[in-house]
Amino acid sequence: SAKNVPQAPEDPLYGLVNAYLSDKSDKKIDLSVGVYRDDNAKPWVLPAVQKAEQLYQCDPDLDHEYLPIAGLPEFINAAQRLIVGADSPAIRESRICSFQTISGTGAVHLGGALLSRFLPLPTPAIYLSSPTWAIHDQIFNNVGLAIKEYPYFSSKTKMMDFDGMISVLGSAPPGSIILLHACAHNPTGVDPTHDQWGKIAKIIRANRLFPFFDCAYQGFASGSLAQDNFAIRYFIDHGFELAIAQSFSKNMGLYGQRVGAFHYIACPGSGAQEIVERVASQLAILQRSEISTPPLFGAKIASIVLNDKEICADWEKDLRTMSGRINTMRESLKQGLDQLQTPGQWGHITSQIGMFSFTGLSKSQVLSLREKWHVYMVETGRISMAGLNSGNVRYFAEAVDDVVRA
Ligand code: PLP
Repeated sequence: SAKNVPQAPEDPLYGLVNAYLSDKSDKKIDLSVGVYRDDNAKPWVLPAVQKAEQLYQCDPDLDHEYLPIAGLPEFINAAQRLIVGADSPAIRESRICSFQTISGTGAVHLGGALLSRFLPLPTPAIYLSSPTWAIHDQIFNNVGLAIKEYPYFSSKTKMMDFDGMISVLGSAPPGSIILLHACAHNPTGVDPTHDQWGKIAKIIRANRLFPFFDCAYQGFASGSLAQDNFAIRYFIDHGFELAIAQSFSKNMGLYGQRVGAFHYIACPGSGAQEIVERVASQLAILQRSEISTPPLFGAKIASIVLNDKEICADWEKDLRTMSGRINTMRESLKQGLDQLQTPGQWGHITSQIGMFSFTGLSKSQVLSLREKWHVYMVETGRISMAGLNSGNVRYFAEAVDDVVRA
């Protein structure tokens, strides 16, 4: 009987959102959820996406039929070209298969479900960066993968703990899955350099590990779509077998439409196409049993943006608008803290990239910010930079200054 179902804890992030919503202060700031906000703290429908919506509404063949199990073909193909590069050997050699998913979360899940069933170890483990996106752990737990961690970030230096990462990857059992953030690491905002990616690839190859890239922020790290898939292209160009979870939530602002894709790429060589076909056949079974077929609307919109040259160019402009505003906020916050001579080092605010900043504020400082200043952020000290704007960044700097001095 359901009488025995225990009460589960509220999702910490959504608990925080509810607390923010019920706060009556006109000074309140939400820096918790990773969603883009414009300079008026409002959601921003990307102009490129608006154009695509208009085109979609005018389509005389518009209907609401089911999509194929793998998703909308013109979306899937364009998403594939975007993430691996149109000139990728994986596409040329038909070594890639792709499925439309319920956004990045669904792609991480589909990949996890596939790998947990078919990786050759009896109980394969997945190594997550410490820290990582809060939901990784839950998703991989759900599909029965053992969770392990590799060091990623040093709270002392506020930089990558590269040596720690390499040392743990070097001792991971062969066949283990290594979850890597393709760019704009969540929550730290710190990515490996190109040289470091080369070294990560080397240790993954030497130890016969399986790289699984989570790419939720393509276009947010450098502002350039082409540059932000560097790591993925590097691994493919070096002949790795790998998986990718791709999200269009942040870079197209399609959060609630749940648009994403999962990609599997086989190693080059004879038999690669057959492996890909077999993997695709298993993905189809998994997809069918979980969502039957993916949703239509968001994929149509993303497909128009990706396939219409003009709208795609507009989208790249929109991406620069978003990443540009976030960078301006990084500068303003750093300047504010410098002017207030806030104790501590704050250079990481401007050196970190992407949507988030790992401020280094302690849990008690985070709680003081919430109680005294109506500033809502997660307890790890991560802030979504997009929640700052020209109207509240000075207030936030003053709030930080106050709790740091307390
Ligand atoms: N992966 C990472 C690292 C993320 O930060 C997020 C969202 O915050 C996701 C995946 C999934 O996002 P969505 O399911 O909204 O596409």
